Order: sequence, then C-alpha cells, then structure tokens
Amino acid sequence: MVKVSLVKCSDYNRDRVFDSVKRAIDLVGGIEAFVRKGTRVLVKPNLLSARPPEDAVDTHPEVVRSVARLVKSAGATPLVGDSPGGYGKNIDEVFDSSGMRAMAKEEDIELVKFAASKFVDGIPFTRYLFDCDRVISVPKFKTHGITVLTAAVKNMYGTVTGLYKAERHSKAPNNADFAKVIAKVYSIAKPHLTVLDGIEAMEGDGPSGGEVRKMNLVMAGADAVAIDACLAAIMELRPFDILVTKEAFKAGLGEADLAKIELSGDPIADFIAADFKLPQTTALKIVPRALLNGIAGFIKFKPYIEINVCARCNLCKTTCPVSAIEIARDHCKIDYKKCVRCLCCQEVCPYKAISIKRNMLTKLVWG
Ligand code: SF4
Ligand code: SF4
Repeated sequence: MVKVSLVKCSDYNRDRVFDSVKRAIDLVGGIEAFVRKGTRVLVKPNLLSARPPEDAVDTHPEVVRSVARLVKSAGATPLVGDSPGGYGKNIDEVFDSSGMRAMAKEEDIELVKFAASKFVDGIPFTRYLFDCDRVISVPKFKTHGITVLTAAVKNMYGTVTGLYKAERHSKAPNNADFAKVIAKVYSIAKPHLTVLDGIEAMEGDGPSGGEVRKMNLVMAGADAVAIDACLAAIMELRPFDILVTKEAFKAGLGEADLAKIELSGDPIADFIAADFKLPQTTALKIVPRALLNGIAGFIKFKPYIEINVCARCNLCKTTCPVSAIEIARDHCKIDYKKCVRCLCCQEVCPYKAISIKRNMLTKLVWG
C-alpha cells in the first residue's frame, strides 16, 4: 500500500511547524528512509511569484526550513531552488519576498537558481534535478485556473527551465492537454519524497489571485499522485476530477485509488472542506458531472487587467507566450484574438492586478 500521512499544524510557529513536518515524515518512514548521509538533496518548494509568505502564493519558508533541518539531521546537504513564473528571471525578488533568502541565510543553506539546463525528451530541466542525489518536493496546496488543483505533482513542473513552460502553455492551453504535459514532466522529475504545505492554502482563483484558506495541514509521502488524490477528497472532489492526477495515474506514475492509499496521522475527515472554493474557470461542484463535458465548450473566460491596480512592472507582458499584452502608462490591454487563455499572466502578476472575467452563460448557470 502507498503511504500518505496527514498531520495538523495550526500556524507557522517555527517549533510547531518543525514538529508537524517531522511527525508527517516519521509516519511515512522517517527522513533516513529518503536521505543518506553525505549526499546532496534538492529541496524544491513552490516559489511562483514575488509575494510575502502571508499571501499563501509560495511555499512558506518555515516548512522549507523544517525539511532542510531534517535533511541536515540525516547528515546530508540541502540545496533550495525553484524556477518561478516569468521564465525565472525574477528569482532574486522571489527569494527575497517569499522569505526564502532570509531563511537560507539563517540556516546556512545554499539557494540555487534553475538556470543551466539538461534536456530530457526535448524538455529542459534544471541540472540540479540530476546533479543532486535526492529530491524533496515541498509544494503548496492551491487552486489553479487551468488545472483546478496545483500541489504535489504539478510542483515538479517548476523543475523545467526557461521559455519551455510558457511555450507548452500556449500549445496546450486547455486542462486536458496541459495535464498530459505536466504528467510527462513529472515522469522525468519524480521526487523521492513530498512534504506538502497546506497550513494556509489558497482557494478561489489560485494559484496567485485567490484567497488564503486556513487548512492546518501538513502531508508527506513518496507518492505525489496519492497526495493529490487525497487533496481532491479534502476539496470534496474525486481524484480524477483533477486531470493531472488522472493522467499521472494512467501513466502508472502513482496511486489515485483512495482505497489503496494507507493514511496515517490525523484523520482525513478532520481536513475535509466541503465549502473549499474552486476557481471561477471550472463548473465542478456546480454542474453535475454527467453534464460537465456537454457544457465545457460553453465555458468562456478571459484574463482582465485592472488598470488601477497594475503597477506597470511588465512581468505579464514578458511572460505571455503569444505576446498578447500591451502595458503603457495610460492603458493596459490584452489582445483577446491572440490570447490562448493560459492564465500565465495572472499567475505571475505580483500585484493581483489580473482578474478572471467569465461569459454571461457561466454567470447565469453558477452565479
Ligand atoms: S498586470 Fe501585474 S504583472 Fe502585468 S504589468 Fe501590471 S502589475 Fe505587472
Ligand atoms: S494574455 Fe495571459 S492568458 Fe492570454 S495568452 Fe497571454 S499570458 Fe496567457
């Protein structure tokens, strides 16, 4: 049976987080089961955007600190790195805003930038994925406008470097196609252990424009697909409602059958949130599943720049894979004829200046 642990943690108090992370890892075998003395371990949080920890956009630095301390306690050396949205160019700002740089300095941990790549099956991965002996993924529990959930499996998409991520978005903008791309990346970038930060999650229009939702949850396990399957249940969805989970399961990359996952720690029932808000881009929880495919073609949405909130940083413009965005002092425009609705612009905006506008039909059907 695949093992997944769930542990309560009420806030980001340093000691409480450490105790919860340690307990979660102990329940699935202990850190020594995943990390050997004298090795180098890549610790891969979700560092999406230059936002403060309280916004719940990035993995909280206290969770990363706890994982890194446990890696050290096993005699190994942790390296912390990620490739944020916007082609990773703003990684220094992200390290600063997320609190990762301060934490790394205090703990004497090396922060690494995912610049140099190694190609596998035509995909450019960070070389740290292969140079390190072990990989520990430390994702954040968040909603996502295209994939509904971004957590354990999707976190490894961040090991891809440079332009490739946004290009793939433009070639596979819908959920089903994009899910296949993420599963392919995950098949190459499978971590040895996943430790999920769900203490403060994001609901609604994640992964960066939603609202903080306290879930008091830390999870651990070797199987990221199984962790995501459990998160679907926590959101009161079925595992295969998350197409990334479905594609990863179909490709034999992990377990999505809840009956075949051995849960330990605190009861999953204590975390279930029936009212967990999904992104406006999905009709899950609103329209019966039998009708979902039938109405899929009628669900239309588009990103919209709030001109009074926009700080004219141009990050969305340089990230957009089809050059659909124009930012000027007196206007901010999206060319909807070019836009492929990938929502990369909303993901990277550090100012929550990009919202989602839905068509009239979806407003009539689900308010
Ligand atoms: S919408 Fe956001 S990312 Fe784009 S220029 Fe304005 S502030 Fe920057
Ligand atoms: S405008 Fe935004 S949603 Fe549209 S293609 Fe560009 S990045 Fe994607």
